[in-house]
Amino acid sequence: MNQRPTYSRPARPELFLILGSGLTVTLIIVIIAVLLIREHASALQAAKRSASNITQLINADVLRNVELYDLALQGLIAATSRKDLAQVSADIRHLVLFDQSTAAPFKGEILLLDKSGAVTADSSMLTPTPRNFANHDYFQIHQQSTDAGLFISRPFKVPCDCEQVWRIAFSRRVQGVNGEFSGVAVATMRLAYFDQLFSSLTIGSGSTINLLNSNGILLAQQPLMERDMIDKDLSSRSNFKRMLREGSGSFSGVSSLDGTPRLYTFTNVGRLPLIVVVALSSEDVFAAWKRAALLVSGATGVLCVGLLWLTWMLRLELRRRYRAEKVLSELAATDALTSLANRRTLDQRLRMEWDRTQRSGEPLALLMIDIDHFKSFNDRHGHQGGDEALRNVAQAIASSVRRPADLATRYGGEEFAVILPHTDSNGAGVIAEYIRSAVEHLPRVAGDTLPITVSIGISVADKNSHGSLEELLLCADRALYEAKHTGRNRIVDAQGL
Ligand code: GH3
Ligand code: MG
Ligand code: MG
Repeated sequence: MNQRPTYSRPARPELFLILGSGLTVTLIIVIIAVLLIREHASALQAAKRSASNITQLINADVLRNVELYDLALQGLIAATSRKDLAQVSADIRHLVLFDQSTAAPFKGEILLLDKSGAVTADSSMLTPTPRNFANHDYFQIHQQSTDAGLFISRPFKVPCDCEQVWRIAFSRRVQGVNGEFSGVAVATMRLAYFDQLFSSLTIGSGSTINLLNSNGILLAQQPLMERDMIDKDLSSRSNFKRMLREGSGSFSGVSSLDGTPRLYTFTNVGRLPLIVVVALSSEDVFAAWKRAALLVSGATGVLCVGLLWLTWMLRLELRRRYRAEKVLSELAATDALTSLANRRTLDQRLRMEWDRTQRSGEPLALLMIDIDHFKSFNDRHGHQGGDEALRNVAQAIASSVRRPADLATRYGGEEFAVILPHTDSNGAGVIAEYIRSAVEHLPRVAGDTLPITVSIGISVADKNSHGSLEELLLCADRALYEAKHTGRNRIVDAQGL
């Protein structure tokens, strides 16, 4: 029984709304994520660039400085080979030997050792104190190898030095005319040189500048991560191994000393066995980016949540409006007194069924129903009683039509119309009889001896009828008129007229 028009939920607008805002939020998040990733990459790039500049600066300074030491050593070696030096006085000889050594900064002593390791000349005094350095690495390396070139020693502290400062030694082999080992020229330098050089460069807190030799021994670090870092062997650390393998470049890694993530930028110092490493703490590198990222993602989060909240509110409002619209359209389609479909719905449905019948050729039946002597019923029972009777008759009519496509309507006043699609004259007669009988068998109203009855006019359109919809209505009306005039409480089919 399909008495009222139905309305589907507003699924589509809701779907579009949710999809649209979901897509917008996703797009915003993707755009912000891409921007942040790009910013992260450029922060990394900028840090690499500045670290690389620092390594180049140190590289140039250290190279120039080592060159000065090398010149001093080469000058010393060249002077020792001069035969005429034996004839000059001790102070002239001292001047000639250490002529090149004055320019070297942070200079310690410059010594000439003979092939047994004994000091034969000392830059700091005319007559050298008897000392032997045969057990030092820089002596032994030249003693054993002819191609050590300029050798840079491990850091060491001179035992007799009351300051106990770290030094390194630069040394070269002294050899005779036939290439035989005849001693070592050695110059020491205070490692304070590197400390001064490194601390003149600005890097963030948590970041360090380091100088290592190719054996992984730490020569200098600024600022110091631990007290006894100098001379520490870092050759087994994976970061150092990677630097040794790659020569120069940069990578992000975790410090094996303190477990802090750092950006390592490193380069070899010329052809010297030295590596400069600038280790910037990742926290420093990305501090500005992190602040911006937090701000931007916080604002984006708020924006997205706001957008989703608005969407949700809009969805609720849409639902509320559709519900209200549904109620309104139901009200507009329904007769308030009987709750049957009203005249407006009848006209719409009748037009629709008529068009369908025209296309399919299926029969369409229309029943026009009028309550008999209702005026006098009203007069007897008042309008209240009349309304009650109308409701009961409407209920009897509604419960007599059973197919989903059937529609019972209140035509107006005490008249009703029933549309019966796909129903021929016989079928319409059966339904009309159900209705007539159902009304007749309604409980009697107090004070009435006779039951309420209805007269029904039937009109059917099928593929053989060539009339219009108006004619269908007119025929049903005529049949009803005939039923009234032939005694009421009866059914007349317009076909029989
Ligand atoms: P007939 O058998 O020839 O149809 O006689 P009748 O009295 O039913 O017909 P008539 O058209 O003369 O009267 C119809 C009456 O129906 C008039 C009016 O009082 C009553 N009526 C129409 N609409 C309503 C309604 O909504 N409520 C009530 N209580 N009465 C109504
Ligand atoms: Mg009437
Ligand atoms: Mg009537």
